[in-house]
Amino acid sequence: MSIISHAPAGDGIAPNFTDYDGERAGFSWADVERELGEAPGGCNIAYYAVDRHVDGALREKCAFRFVGQNESDRGALVTENLTFAEFGSRVRRFTNVLRNLGVGKGDRVFVVTGRIPELYVATLGALRNGCVVSPLFSAFGPEPLATRIRLGDGQLLVTTDTLYRRRVTKIRDDVPSLRHVLVVGDSARDAPSSGTVDFATAMSEVDDVADITPTCRDDPALLHFTSGTTGTPKGAIHVHGAVATHFATGRYALDLHPSDIFWCTADPGWVTGTSYGVITPLLHGVTSVVDTAEFDAERWYRILDEQAVTVWYTAPTAIRMLMKAGPDLARKHSLTRLRFVASVGEPLNPDAVRWGRDVLGHPVHDNWWQTETGGIMIANTPGFDIKPGSMGRPLPGVDARIVTPPRSDGERTGDVAVIDDPDVEGELALRRGWPSMFRGYLNNEARYRQCFSGDWYLSGDLAKRDADGYFWFVGRADDVIKSAGHLIGPFEVENTLMQHPAVAEAGVIGVPDATVGEIVKAFVSVKSGWTPDETLRRELLAHARTELGAAVAPKTIEFVDVLPHTRSGKVMRRLLKARELGLPEGDTSTLETDE
Ligand code: ATP
Ligand code: MG
Repeated sequence: MSIISHAPAGDGIAPNFTDYDGERAGFSWADVERELGEAPGGCNIAYYAVDRHVDGALREKCAFRFVGQNESDRGALVTENLTFAEFGSRVRRFTNVLRNLGVGKGDRVFVVTGRIPELYVATLGALRNGCVVSPLFSAFGPEPLATRIRLGDGQLLVTTDTLYRRRVTKIRDDVPSLRHVLVVGDSARDAPSSGTVDFATAMSEVDDVADITPTCRDDPALLHFTSGTTGTPKGAIHVHGAVATHFATGRYALDLHPSDIFWCTADPGWVTGTSYGVITPLLHGVTSVVDTAEFDAERWYRILDEQAVTVWYTAPTAIRMLMKAGPDLARKHSLTRLRFVASVGEPLNPDAVRWGRDVLGHPVHDNWWQTETGGIMIANTPGFDIKPGSMGRPLPGVDARIVTPPRSDGERTGDVAVIDDPDVEGELALRRGWPSMFRGYLNNEARYRQCFSGDWYLSGDLAKRDADGYFWFVGRADDVIKSAGHLIGPFEVENTLMQHPAVAEAGVIGVPDATVGEIVKAFVSVKSGWTPDETLRRELLAHARTELGAAVAPKTIEFVDVLPHTRSGKVMRRLLKARELGLPEGDTSTLETDE
């Protein structure tokens, strides 16, 4: 097994910890909580993220740099910068706006704006006011918005004037709980309707003096919807106590130090964009870069360069798109400030890890977690060897194990058993009780209960743990293909296909077959410069057979321009399968579309 050693920190900053084995070298969540200190009245995420910084040394430090579309005279993309002091002032004002409208503790606040400053202000201001916050993707159409706001019993929505006109007017009557809509944008003032308030006017009518609402560790804080990769998205409820995980993982998995310029590319409509694009960098008092635009390979290299990003957290799909764009684009930019690169959301192919080392100057550190876990649980950590293709090892304070998987029909009988032998496939489970563990699926208690067996939270992912304690992703329990008595994880097949230089991305499914149960079918998009023809198809089939053996290799390959993705960047295999079988597509609310 090849191992990539972690490059020493470029700016001389050593990783924060050097040994976390055994009982995690004395690590305890209580110590993390002690380090964070007590918030007035208990534990409120906004206190740790904002209040405790604004009167201290960080006051004049830049908290956020919002990268816009325009260029300055010197040819750089113009940014709008917010200091911790200014951000804190706006957050307190927003707290007062909510109080004026009678929106208080436990009330649900939805934010649908795109990545503009108001999203960040509203999220923290609502947390500070004890509300439960749910940022949603701004690209959602009216129906997905209405479904989520209804399910979450939303009382207040923050949106932009464009989205208000295009989406919200269509759903207003369908969501009776929605008492107030705050609209951001110049034209908002001209289009008042009942229950609609102009954001800027509301902010200007209040002052920035506001106590923080006391909340305790177990009070709900955030509502995150899952990506909808395997079915209808579920609403996972998270509490203020999750802040301990956000803080510790920022240190142990992302290597955040005060001097860092951090860029998490995820949108806050996905849990990664809230946990690591909003909360964690604020907790660590680092400067965060926020790109207000969508992915564009050239732009992203430019941002890394111009903003002198030191720590970068992104997703495999973005890395694959940068790989597809070719190395010449990267060479036009200076990436020397980059110190640490991490990725989450989908399996990260070994090639992508190595590409990071060769093109970005740093290997990509894969890490694993879920909406339900609230924060990173398993990671290739700074200072430790990376095993390309592995998700890494459990972070301090996380007890991850492989347990007996569900039967092939998805059913379970009795409690699960821990599998201690290395390299045995089973379900990835976490011992319940880490601070950011979700506390329920909205309106779906039965589904929540199914996630637990005795002491264990069952992730629904299949994995293996090797003798060194590294975890290897096998597939989602739902996606595993059963063919001629073999259980085949799509990831292994996709990985092998992507080793071929022509393949940009692959999605693999099982197609029902009367003889062998299911046959393996691959959907493949090719890199620019390659022709998806019969010769290439035969070459790929032969490559897969040589690498995987005939039993596991795909029997058919279909070339596609692009694969369907969720907005969080995951290949939607269930959609490939439904289309293949001519079945209804199911919930496609999170499907990425060009709009
Ligand atoms: P849904 O639960 O609605 O089907 P989802 O599981 O994709 O959607 P998320 O919570 O965004 O929603 O994603 C978590 C899942 O993403 C994990 O359970 C795992 O399958 C996958 N994942 C995350 N990180 C990794 C990783 N590093 N390697 C492999 N898979 C990963
Ligand atoms: Mg899931």
